[in-house]
Amino acid sequence: MKHIVIIGGGIAGMESACALTDAGHWVTLIEKEAQLGGKLNQWSFLFPDFTPAEKIKDTLFDKCQERDFSILLKTEVKSVQTHQKKFNIETFGGQKLEADAVVVSSGYELFDARRKEEYGYKIYDHVITSADLEKLLRPGSDLSVAAGKNPKRIAFVHCVGSRDEKSGNHYCSKVCCITGVKQAIELKKRLPEAEIFCFYMDLRMYGKHFEELYREAQEKFDIQFIRGRLSEAAEKMDKSLLIKAEDTLSGRPLKMNVDLLVLLVGMEAGKGTATAAAKCSIEYEDSGFLKTNDTFLFSNFSSQEGIFLAGSCTAPMSVNDTILHARSAAMEVNSWLRKQ
Ligand SMILES: Cc1cc2nc3c(=O)[nH]c(=O)nc-3n(C[C@H](O)[C@H](O)[C@H](O)COP(=O)(O)OP(=O)(O)OC[C@H]3O[C@@H](n4cnc5c(N)ncnc54)[C@H](O)[C@@H]3O)c2cc1C
Ligand code: SF4
Repeated sequence: MKHIVIIGGGIAGMESACALTDAGHWVTLIEKEAQLGGKLNQWSFLFPDFTPAEKIKDTLFDKCQERDFSILLKTEVKSVQTHQKKFNIETFGGQKLEADAVVVSSGYELFDARRKEEYGYKIYDHVITSADLEKLLRPGSDLSVAAGKNPKRIAFVHCVGSRDEKSGNHYCSKVCCITGVKQAIELKKRLPEAEIFCFYMDLRMYGKHFEELYREAQEKFDIQFIRGRLSEAAEKMDKSLLIKAEDTLSGRPLKMNVDLLVLLVGMEAGKGTATAAAKCSIEYEDSGFLKTNDTFLFSNFSSQEGIFLAGSCTAPMSVNDTILHARSAAMEVNSWLRKQ
């Protein structure tokens, strides 16, 4: 029986672990936090069909429980040494593991919206991020905490920390456009009287049912999409916000008063993935996301033989794409091990 160590217990790590166990291998899944599930622990309902995030996470969790593999929570890798085609892994807790292959599934981190000072995150009370809003949209959460009692006008800003020279992230985070559509619809369902505006540069509705959801947002929920980049937000005496933008379709400057501003923050590779890359001595791209051997045929292969990649540590991706990438990682590990 071969032993595979997986670093990162989000949905990518969980799915890879199950698939590799089913293929007859022994798996150790290492997660730095106290629970498995990664970002899905914080999300409310998932695009494109509003399935509760909890449902997907619980299904994966049950799948893990039904299988026999080792899970190390609150654990981080201290070192990875390669010796005679084996990986000797030591954790900060002093555990020593010998693996035949490694899968890195360390995911992503959210762009820190404080870096875009002009939008006033953590400066003004009613400026929140899409990640904050996800938590507020979870069943039992109180929306008025962020928005005041009855927000009449809400604005979303796209591309916060993505496609942005100033923040150093040139890439598109891929899922924030559709996340904005999803969240705007959720808000409208709860606050039917509110007017909702989305300020975008381009809309990237790349996935199945995304374009339909975007149309529904306009036609059924009356959400307005304005092509324009927000230049700044300022807080008024009553805690509402004055936002300034340029409507790039009409070419006119635009000022608007809103009660809540939601920043659609991008995805960054983050510290967790940087650490995993350093410990495993694998390469990463300028963006920080892990370098795959090839874009088309080897997207689960890292720059080092025997170390494989799964999920959003390689690029921003949706839950659906992450699960598929994790499954293909397990398949590649399995066929690579058979050849050894
Ligand atoms: C605001 C927002 C809303 C979203 N909503 C949706 C949606 O509605 N539908 C949808 O399809 N997608 C959505 N997404 C995308 C979704 O979050 C990702 O597809 C998914 O989280 C990727 O899973 P992952 O396992 O690759 O990474 P993660 O969820 O980031 O999990 C990675 C795990 O690895 C662990 N880890 C990291 N580094 C280490 C290390 N060095 N050692 C040990 N453990 C480590 C982390 O603690 C974490 O548990 C949304 C994204 C954002 C930003
Ligand atoms: S998905 Fe949309 S909001 Fe996110 S970076 Fe790309 S264009 Fe901007």
